[in-house]
Amino acid sequence: MSAKAREKRQRFLRLAFQDYYRHHAATIDSPQRLHMREFAFETWEYTWRCVQRTETDESGKILRKGCGEKGTSLLRPKVCPKCGSTGVTTTNWARHLGFRSGEALRKELATRAPHSVYHSAAFYNVPVARSMYEKQWQGAELVFDIDADHLDAPCTREHDGWVCANPDCRETGWGEPPESGCPSCGGQEFLRRKWICDRCLDDAKRNTLRVYDEFLVGDLGIDPKDLQLNYSGHRGYHIRVRDSRVFKIQSPGRVEIVHAITGTGLDGSRAIKGIRGVPTVPPRTVPGWGGRVADAIIEFLRTIDDYDGKERWVRSLRVSRESLVKGLLQNPPRLERVSGVGTKTWEEIATIAVMRYGGKIDVPVTHDIHRVIRLIGSLHGKTGFIVKSLSRDSIEGFDPFRDALAFDDEPLKIHVQGGLLEVPRFRIGDELYGPFGDEVVEIPTNAAMFLLCKGVATLE
Ligand SMILES: [Zn+2]
Ligand SMILES: [Zn+2]
Ligand SMILES: [Zn+2]
Repeated sequence: MSAKAREKRQRFLRLAFQDYYRHHAATIDSPQRLHMREFAFETWEYTWRCVQRTETDESGKILRKGCGEKGTSLLRPKVCPKCGSTGVTTTNWARHLGFRSGEALRKELATRAPHSVYHSAAFYNVPVARSMYEKQWQGAELVFDIDADHLDAPCTREHDGWVCANPDCRETGWGEPPESGCPSCGGQEFLRRKWICDRCLDDAKRNTLRVYDEFLVGDLGIDPKDLQLNYSGHRGYHIRVRDSRVFKIQSPGRVEIVHAITGTGLDGSRAIKGIRGVPTVPPRTVPGWGGRVADAIIEFLRTIDDYDGKERWVRSLRVSRESLVKGLLQNPPRLERVSGVGTKTWEEIATIAVMRYGGKIDVPVTHDIHRVIRLIGSLHGKTGFIVKSLSRDSIEGFDPFRDALAFDDEPLKIHVQGGLLEVPRFRIGDELYGPFGDEVVEIPTNAAMFLLCKGVATLE
C-alpha cells in the first residue's frame, strides 16, 4: 500500500476517534486520584527531530550532518523531511502528561484524539515530572493483565501470521514466525500480524474470572467492591485492585503475589505427604493452593500429551492416566499407586502441575510499580474497540465483537490488503466477514474500522 493511502487512512482514523471522543465524554473513566496519575498518549502522528552532529571522513575533513529541525508527520519518517539526513529520531508517544480533572482529560482527548490512552497505576505527587525521582511515587494500584498472548490458545496458530521482512522474499506463514529464520531466504526479521477470535477471547475471559474469583477474592480476600474489571480493547482483560492496603506494596511484594497466583515455586513436599509410605494429596477443603493440588494434577494428566518434559515418570503417568484421574476425582482425592512413582516423584509432579494450573497473567505488568494501563472508556487504536468497563456480573455475557463497538453500521468502502497474507474471517455483531484477499469491499463502518485499525486495509 502506498504511503499516500496509509497517510489518508491515519488521518481518517484520527478524525473518527476525535468524533468518538467528542460524543462519548460521559463514558470515559476518571480514575481515582486522577490528578496524581501520569498519563501517556500513543499518538497517530510521529514527532520527529533531525539530530545535528559532526562526522569526520577518511581525509579528516569535518562534515556537518542534520539540520536540527523538528516536526510532526502521520507516517514515521525514515529520513529528515527537510534535509534528507538519516539521523532522524521519531516517537509517537507523549508521556508525563497530567490533568487536574476528568473534564480537562476529556477535553484533551476530544482535541488530540490519540491512537491509545494510558495512565499510571501509580499515584505521584508530581505526575508530570520527567524522572521517577521527581515524580515522588506515593503508591500504586495492583494491576493484572490477562492477555490471549500469554495463553497460547490453539487458534493463534490459525489466525496469527507473518510475512518475511525481506522485500525480495516476502515469504508468509501462519502461527509464530519460524525460530530458525525464514524458510525461503533465511532472514530473521518478520512482520507479524496478530488476530483475535471468539476462542482466544473466551480463553482470556475464563482466565480473568479465575484470577478474580479464585485468587483475588478467594485466596487474598479482596472485597469485590475494590476490584475494577475491563476489556482491554484487543486481546484480553484487566483487573485493577483498588484496596488501599495494596497501594504501598513495593515490587518484591508484588512478585510474591504474582507467584501466589501463577502457582510458581510451590514446595512439593508441603503438598504431597508420604503417610505410612503412601503418597497422599491434601483434601479440597484445604484453603489456597493445598486444596487445588488434586485438581492441578488432574488437569496436568488430561493435557499431559502437550507436556514436553523428558522426565522418566511422564510415560508412567500416561499409561495410568485413567485410573489416576478417577482416584483424584474422589472426595477426598486419592493417588492411585503407580509403579516407580513414589512420594518424592509426586512432589516434583505437583510442583509442575500447580505451575501449569496457575492463573495466566502478564507477569511484568503486575511487578512494575510504574506501569501505565489503558484508560477505561478510551479507544484501542489497533482495533477501534472500546476499552470497556465491566462488572463481575456483566463480564460473563460480554461479547467484545458486539459490546465493545464504537462506531455505526453505515456502509464504508475499503480496500482490504489481504493479497500477501489472507485477512482471516472475523465477526462483528451477528455478521461474519472475510476471509479477504486483495479486494475492495463495502462493509459496515464497525467492521471496516476494525480492518483499518488492524492496518490491513486502506480507504477506497
Ligand atoms: Zn534535517
Ligand atoms: Zn524470506
Ligand atoms: Zn483466536
